[in-house]
Amino acid sequence: MAALKYSRQRESIKNYLCSREDHPTADMVYTDIRREFPNISLGTVYRNLSLLVETGEIRKITMDGADRFDAKTTPHHHFTCRKCGCVLDVMAPVENLAETVDEAWEYGDVEGCRIEFYGICSRCKKILNEA
Ligand SMILES: [Zn+2]
Ligand SMILES: [Zn+2]
Repeated sequence: MAALKYSRQRESIKNYLCSREDHPTADMVYTDIRREFPNISLGTVYRNLSLLVETGEIRKITMDGADRFDAKTTPHHHFTCRKCGCVLDVMAPVENLAETVDEAWEYGDVEGCRIEFYGICSRCKKILNEA
């Protein structure tokens, strides 16, 4: 019975993440999922999130020291707005950068690379332009 309850909560957490494009933190997931499961604890949310990461159903990304969760598991990169801190998806084909470096680099095997883009999002840019 308990196992069934947990899998239902996990399912809801996953569905919630699939509906979001803003890469929520565990706290944001907790706040929103409590509307559906008022008795859920933050610990349970954390546990379900790590389980989903372990099974590869979602991805954990660390931006500016905060863990965020992403239901999009296809290869992509992230952009952080330096004004509002929002995290957006960047679908730029930079995958073969690691391969290029690996070919020329002689101190080990490069298996991948993590690229972080930053700048100003269009929403903040609009506010700045209006000010
Ligand atoms: Zn912004
Ligand atoms: Zn993403």
